[in-house]
Parts: sequence; C-alpha cells; structure tokens
Amino acid sequence: MTGLLPTPTLTRRQPLVDRLGRVHTYLRVSVTDRCNFRCVYCMPPEGLNWQPREDLLTYEEIGRLVGVFAEMGVQKVRLTGGEPTVRSDIEALIAQIASCKGILDLAMTTNGHTLARLAPRLARAGLNRINVSLDTLRPERFGRVTRGGQLTRVLEGIEAARQAGITPIKINVVLMKDENDDELFELVEYFAQWAQDTELRFIEYMPFGKRRHGTVPSHSLRDRLSQQYTLCAQPQHGTSAGPASTWTLAENSLKVGFISPLSEHFCATCNRLRLMCDGHLRTCLAHDDTPSLRDLLRSGATDHALEDAIRAMVYAKPDGHDAQINGGTHFEGVMTRIGG
Ligand code: SAM
Ligand code: SF4
Repeated sequence: MTGLLPTPTLTRRQPLVDRLGRVHTYLRVSVTDRCNFRCVYCMPPEGLNWQPREDLLTYEEIGRLVGVFAEMGVQKVRLTGGEPTVRSDIEALIAQIASCKGILDLAMTTNGHTLARLAPRLARAGLNRINVSLDTLRPERFGRVTRGGQLTRVLEGIEAARQAGITPIKINVVLMKDENDDELFELVEYFAQWAQDTELRFIEYMPFGKRRHGTVPSHSLRDRLSQQYTLCAQPQHGTSAGPASTWTLAENSLKVGFISPLSEHFCATCNRLRLMCDGHLRTCLAHDDTPSLRDLLRSGATDHALEDAIRAMVYAKPDGHDAQINGGTHFEGVMTRIGG
C-alpha cells in the first residue's frame, strides 16, 4: 500500500502531477476481472476467484470517475480487463466515455474472440482504436496458450475491426522463451500484408507472483530482426508518446513496437494510471494499489472530494520498479483486475 503524502494545493484543470513532476494524461480502466480465456502467462487454468459483481464499478461510476479524471487533464482512456468484451453491453460504456468532454482518444485491449460480431457495434459507439492480443499463428499452440481460444475467430475479429474502421490496429504479442519465440518472423511476415494500418507490438513477459515463463528481452528480438530487415527508428513525440519504442521495417513498411518493462524501464516518463475493476487506483503497474475510489464514490463524495483524493494518490506515485529480466522484485497483484 502506498502511503499518501500531503499534496500541494492545486485547483481544478491543473494537470495531474506526481512529486517527480510526471504529468498523467492516460487512464487505463479494467472493466472486469472475468475472461473467456485463461492465458498461461496471465491466469491459472482454473481461473481466479472473480470479484463479486457488487464490488465492480458500475458503468455509471466509471463514467463519473472518467469525467473527474478528464477535468484534471486525462485525454486518453483504454478499456481493458480481464476481457472487456465479456462485460454486458460494453458499447454503453464506450458511448458514455466517448461523449465525455476532454477525452480525445478511446481505445480497447481485447483478446478479439468475439470481435467479429462486436466490431461494428463498438465502432458505432465511438471506439477509436483497438489492440488485439495474439501470441501465435499456430492454431494448436493458440489453443494451448489461451487454454481454449480459437485462432480463426481472433483473425476474423481483427479483419472485422479493420472493416469497421477501428484503426490503426495494434497486435500485442507476448513472446516467451522456448514457448513461442520461434514465431518472431512468422508474425512479422503475416502482419506485413496490413502494414498500412497494423502495428505489431512485442511485450516482455512480466512475472506476476511466481515466475513461470522466460522473458525474452526486446533487444534480442531487435537483434534477430535486424539480421533480415533494416530497422528504422520512429521518433518519440514527447513524454506522452507511451512506453513502446517503435521501428519501421524498411523492406515491408511494417511498424514494430517493443514494450520493455523489464529490460528498458520507462518509469521516468510514465504518464499512465490504472483504474482497477473494483475502483482501486493503481498508480504504478508493479506496486500494490491505493485506497478505493469506489468506497469514496459510494459514500457520497462530491467531484471535488474525488479529485482531492485522486491528486493525493497520484502525488504519492512510486518512483518506479526494479523488476529485471532475471531477478528484481516481482509485480504485485492480479493482472486481470489491474488491466495490464
Ligand atoms: N483480455 C484482454 C487481452 O488479452 O488483450 C485485455 C487484458 S490483458 C491483461 C492486457 C494485456 O496484458 C494483453 O496484451 C496481454 O497479453 C498482456 N499480459 C497479460 N499478462 C501478462 C504478463 N504476465 N506479462 C506481459 N503481458 C501480459
Ligand atoms: Fe484473458 Fe487477456 Fe489475461 Fe488472456 S491476457 S487470460 S485474454 S485477460
């Protein structure tokens, strides 16, 4: 638990800063801890003890909190989970956030299993962009890694998102040592056919709790790719550019991003906050959460009181984490409640 420090007096509309001067403009919202997959790097085979429904923030509560964050300068929201599409009528939440003053960019991270059906509805509701997680192009391996997913459904879902105009599409890949890291080139070659609107992003495996898989450091993937492709670095635009370092492959114009929470920490420029599905605000992915905004909401707090509480939590955000490829601290908590 992060201790709360006294915050300097700030008025509404002033940016959401922490004591290191980091400005926060990006809010990730976990809308549920439930999921239709049980990915090996994220959940145990039997699933988890789901949070009781009454503990989850309602759409109305999420909408109100997003409004308060937007007043403090948050401009970008990403819905995640768990699997955001398993929460019923997710379009209603999308429409609510899309109409929130100050929110300029609304994205979702999904496993894509029901996207073929949902994509047109999500687009109509106001979703701007989508990240689809896909760790392998081999059907049998896909079933093993996700413990039950069907690869063809996800590929159809990606195509449906493209047809619905929810672009650019980012494909999130977690490559694990000796499990699926032999597919680096297959993935690149497959997605190169949609290079105009698709980016491939390799995320380093983060050990939550016990380490069960081997992290492949981003630099080793870049080294391998550079044997076959010319990697041109994409410029980063300011501190809000996000944690990915992005490269374009000169031979096929595919953008390839690397998110390296272990080998290349980006804590010094972190601009993101995570609203967990039970209303706790996680100011740092690696550290345990702060007190619950849900309890404050349900006790009748005004927007001003919510803002003061949020500012105090953000002000006390930890400097960073020291998780490393081999060693350092492990990440605390449950990925699906936090939202990745
Ligand atoms: N269910 C959705 C999905 O899979 O896209 C959204 C939630 S998931 C927790 C968000 C992202 O976290 C996914 O891209 C997933 O691959 C990634 N992720 C989950 N566990 C991870 C871990 N231990 N290390 C690195 N990334 C992880
Ligand atoms: Fe579900 Fe996403 Fe976790 Fe896979 S990574 S188990 S799809 S929440």
